[in-house]
Amino acid sequence: MSTDNLTDEQRKRVDEKVRSLESRIDRTKRYHSPGDCDACRDEPCGTQFEIWDLEHELGRWKQQPLQEIEKEDSAKRFEDERFVHLTSSHADVLSRFVEIVERKITVDDYGDEVVSHLDNEITICLNKLKDREGGKRFGPPLQNRLREHLSEIFKQHHAKNIENKDRG
Ligand SMILES: [Zn+2]
Repeated sequence: MSTDNLTDEQRKRVDEKVRSLESRIDRTKRYHSPGDCDACRDEPCGTQFEIWDLEHELGRWKQQPLQEIEKEDSAKRFEDERFVHLTSSHADVLSRFVEIVERKITVDDYGDEVVSHLDNEITICLNKLKDREGGKRFGPPLQNRLREHLSEIFKQHHAKNIENKDRG
């Protein structure tokens, strides 16, 4: 491993990445071994491919840490740009989403509000965004970030709504 040309901060980041990949590989191997896996009988199953992918990734982080750092940073920048693009150019979908969730809130027999449909509406909203973007799918990190964002803008909107109601 050549970590000589890395800054302390970068070295720390590489260490953390290596440790996290190793533990993911360990965890996955603990419940999957090709010899015991029915799905692996004819050809390697999805889990086996996942293990190989993780092992390759680990190898790259060990052999060329600087390239991996740069790759990760540029992927992050791309994701940031995409997030900003999605949330700004489809602001109409987002505000519609907030209205829909708000409208569907019910009150239970105790007089408490029930927002059981939020996750479902988030999924529907993400699909709308995806359609608007020509069906291009979002990677898991971007998807999680959008989910959190939608949940957050609803909470903010709802808090403001209650405030306005209380004021009369
Ligand atoms: Zn298998």
